[in-house]
Amino acid sequence: MLTAPSGTKNRELRATDRIEVVRTAVSDARGRGLRIGCVPTMGALHAGHLSLITAAREETDFVVVTIFVNPTQFGPNEDFRQYPRTLNEDIEACRQAGVDLVFHPETGTIYGQDDRTFVEVAGLSDILEGEFRPGHFRGVATVVTKLLNITSPDCAYFGAKDYQQQLLIRRMCRELHLPVEVCTKPTVREPDGLALSSRNRYLSDSERQVALLISQSLQLAKQLVSDGEHDIDSISNKMLHHLTSSPSVSVDYATIRNAETLEELSSACHSMVGLIAARVGKTRLIDNMLIDLPEPR
Ligand code: AMP
Repeated sequence: MLTAPSGTKNRELRATDRIEVVRTAVSDARGRGLRIGCVPTMGALHAGHLSLITAAREETDFVVVTIFVNPTQFGPNEDFRQYPRTLNEDIEACRQAGVDLVFHPETGTIYGQDDRTFVEVAGLSDILEGEFRPGHFRGVATVVTKLLNITSPDCAYFGAKDYQQQLLIRRMCRELHLPVEVCTKPTVREPDGLALSSRNRYLSDSERQVALLISQSLQLAKQLVSDGEHDIDSISNKMLHHLTSSPSVSVDYATIRNAETLEELSSACHSMVGLIAARVGKTRLIDNMLIDLPEPR
């Protein structure tokens, strides 16, 4: 006899590209007293996305995954066209993970030809990723607002992998009084430390080896702080030195910031985050690690 994996019994996945179908399914679920969880993604799902889906399954009753490669968050010379699109496999992965509803809209469903409404989180949008990808966070904030308005979840799930993004979304939801709890879940890594990313599939075998320098540099910064080093410039320099030990790495930023505000630091503070954006060959990767100051003995 075949039995469903634990917890997936009685769940049937629906996939739709229509807003009305999502609204009806969500309001039916809410009418049945269920709490709604939403996991916004751009598809090409991997274990990082699945960890968010698992958290949503554990913490809510009706899980909606959105799959939408959002054009407005890509710059003119970025990889919007090449971005991996694997909708059928993604829907199957969602089915196996016990998702209730997949929303995979066309671009024209999310954006009208004449749209003039955008959401911008001033300040946080302009630094780090925002400095190197102008307009990126306006695209992110706008699409997340639209997706939250369509799915109206109780909880929305984001990865710590995109650290600045989840801070920005938290702030946006708070300031716009959106009735949603923003949940951030830890970065899922390969056993050797590489953070999972849909863009990892662009890497050749040798580039993948070089890409390990990114997580190693963050780990190094964490280790230096835990060994008692407090000089931020010195830690950043050592991180940069390790990162650039291969000529195929070109660095956009490698920095240690206040983990709550992303402000620059002159000296170590209690809650810090190391953040790196670097190109390995042609592939741009980001990663980060929280760094806590050890308690004084
Ligand atoms: P994306 O499809 O790249 O837009 O990512 C969708 C969500 O998955 C975002 O909230 C990401 O932060 C999250 N995510 C991406 N990679 C990982 C990872 N390695 N671990 C945990 N979450 C991730």
